[in-house]
Amino acid sequence: MSSNAEGASEDRRKYEFRKVIEELQEYEGSGTQLVTIYIPEDKQISDVVAHVVQEHSEAANIKSKQTRTNVQDALTSIKDRLRYYDTFPPENGIVLFSGAVDSGGGQTEMVTRVLDSPPQPVESFRYHCDSAFLTEPLEEMLADKGLFGLIVLDRREANVGWLKGKRIEPVKSASSLVPGKQRKGGQSAQRFARLRLEAIDNFYQEVAGMADDLMVPKRHELDGILVGGPSPTKDEFLDGGYLHHELQDKVVGKFDVSYTDESGLGDLVDAAQDVLADQEVMKDKSQMEEFFEKLHRGNEATYGFEPTRKNLVMGSVDRLLLSEDLRSDVVVYDCPNGHEEFEVVDSRHKTPDHVCSECKEEAEVREREDVIEHLMAIAEQRGTETKFISTDFEKGEQLMDAFGGVAGILRYSTGV
Ligand SMILES: [Zn+2]
Repeated sequence: MSSNAEGASEDRRKYEFRKVIEELQEYEGSGTQLVTIYIPEDKQISDVVAHVVQEHSEAANIKSKQTRTNVQDALTSIKDRLRYYDTFPPENGIVLFSGAVDSGGGQTEMVTRVLDSPPQPVESFRYHCDSAFLTEPLEEMLADKGLFGLIVLDRREANVGWLKGKRIEPVKSASSLVPGKQRKGGQSAQRFARLRLEAIDNFYQEVAGMADDLMVPKRHELDGILVGGPSPTKDEFLDGGYLHHELQDKVVGKFDVSYTDESGLGDLVDAAQDVLADQEVMKDKSQMEEFFEKLHRGNEATYGFEPTRKNLVMGSVDRLLLSEDLRSDVVVYDCPNGHEEFEVVDSRHKTPDHVCSECKEEAEVREREDVIEHLMAIAEQRGTETKFISTDFEKGEQLMDAFGGVAGILRYSTGV
């Protein structure tokens, strides 16, 4: 239960972040007056406050009175928000946005948004003041590439580590005692060659041991392993069966990389961009393929807002599939005779009137809520996993266009 619930709330948080980012991207300031601050978790709040106070006094030099006032108001608002924190930010840090945005007709509106504990750690302190909010670092955190094991090696050294989201974490390194190709005088050529091969073999074993220690315990969470190095080293290493067989099965690609120190891990990730992009869509693809398979088998899948909601409430949905592009609200209506009905409307549209489909009476609006939040709340109560599906592939587009962005894979055939 706990891992399921945690997964669900993490997805929900990511969705909430995505929505805030989309909102922030829409805003524009008439001058350089929109302030963004990224605070890493190890930065003292008092240091940040001091920085904000400093910026506030420097803003007194801004020539345009309007911009000056707007920047100072934004900084005051940020300072007020920072009062709610203890000595240090919560896990992964804080991102603050504040400023006077254009609200049309020459008017401005003050907007302040605070995001606690983003999905990845804020890497460094950033103060940014511009005519737009700085959202790119947050967008990168949300572009979740999952968890990948990284191995770079040549015959001299090796490094292993993680790719977590977009962040590279070096963990362990090793260097070898493999002698160079030059043999010493007096040694027979064959003996030298044999010793050298033995040393290479030992080194590969050491590297594999290092990778096994790190990655075998995480093998079930791993989305893949990337291996880099010059040829033929990485090929010898992979073909020689040095890695634990379960890790070997997780290798999604090998790449030419010239450096095998810590910087080589970054080169490896750069070289693997296409494979990583495929991997990202691949998870979504397999969800959609399973959905279609079960749909064709009959009664093992559901789609559309109302049928999916009904199955969710009954607890019969194993996985809720939601399109990443879904931006709609659900309006819940009550008719005088106690019938509950729903209508899904575009988030930007007004709430329509509704006549009860059963008794034809005029129904009253009980509430209007984001469709995704509405469905995820039910899913969380029922222990149903939620998966967001991108529209970057055909079946993902179909989910959005043909199924209203909502579908479910059922736990069992409902026989309906
Ligand atoms: Zn009714």
